[in-house]
Amino acid sequence: MIVEYFRPETLVEALDLLSRKGIKTVPLGGGTALNQPSAEQVAAVDLQALGLNQVELHGQTLAVGAMTTLQAILEHPDTPEVLAKVIRYEASYNLRQAATIAGTLMSASGRSPFATLLLAWDALLEMHQAGKEPESVGLGDVLPVRVEALHNRLITKVILGQNVRVGYEYVARTPADLPLVCVSVARWPSGRTRLALGGYGAAPVLAMDGPQADGLEQAARDAYSQAGDEWASADYRREAAATLALRCFQALK
Ligand SMILES: Cc1cc2nc3c(=O)[nH]c(=O)nc-3n(C[C@H](O)[C@H](O)[C@H](O)COP(=O)(O)OP(=O)(O)OC[C@H]3O[C@@H](n4cnc5c(N)ncnc54)[C@H](O)[C@@H]3O)c2cc1C
Repeated sequence: MIVEYFRPETLVEALDLLSRKGIKTVPLGGGTALNQPSAEQVAAVDLQALGLNQVELHGQTLAVGAMTTLQAILEHPDTPEVLAKVIRYEASYNLRQAATIAGTLMSASGRSPFATLLLAWDALLEMHQAGKEPESVGLGDVLPVRVEALHNRLITKVILGQNVRVGYEYVARTPADLPLVCVSVARWPSGRTRLALGGYGAAPVLAMDGPQADGLEQAARDAYSQAGDEWASADYRREAAATLALRCFQALK
């Protein structure tokens, strides 16, 4: 439950609030996850006055401000087609108007198509902390340890390389449902290939990051060999992940 609310007008002010002692103080994006009923009392630092809602194409990188809503990204002329497609799978039209890119990544479960895509894409997060130099951290380094990694810190930008082809495939009970299994494959001109899997667990997982695509199917099988829950068995997910990984890679070629 949000028990205190701040709307700072500068980044420095926001960072100072996030680093104060006492009540847990967290950034507020669109508020769609943070506003859910919860026994935990938090102070919210609303970032909407900081101008973090720009999408900018600089040469080979697309820099998306942390407060950019999913709908604004979807509608932006520089947004690659695969990103727009996966945003439609991630959230309904109403939710997309409020949910921000940073809030979505920081609250994503393993069934998030968007976090799976950006994990394969090797998205970089620009992070700020009071009194320290900003740093760029890979989404893959933050996702499994979000609570610790974000303590006192703020994401200001999400950076996506444009010299990479990225694909997405999934299976779900219905086309608009969250995936039982989803895969994203990213391939760089050098041959570097990253494979991320979603549909299960607390966060999507990186199954492979190699100089070539060799072993893609086996990497998918290995990563989801124990991925059983009430939605699908581990046997099903393991084989579906391998099939989808191959399909995704072939579509990229
Ligand atoms: C009706 C409804 C249905 C939903 N359905 C789903 C669903 O099916 N699947 C699903 O995964 N989620 C679902 N959600 C949850 C939620 O909508 C999404 O996770 C959403 O994308 C969160 O984005 P936000 O900007 O609103 O984040 P917020 O609620 O503002 O924040 C979420 C988390 O991210 C942190 N955060 C926000 N901005 C930053 C930043 N710049 N830097 C660091 N940390 C930050 C916050 O402190 C908080 O911990 C649903 C929510 C609603 C209301």
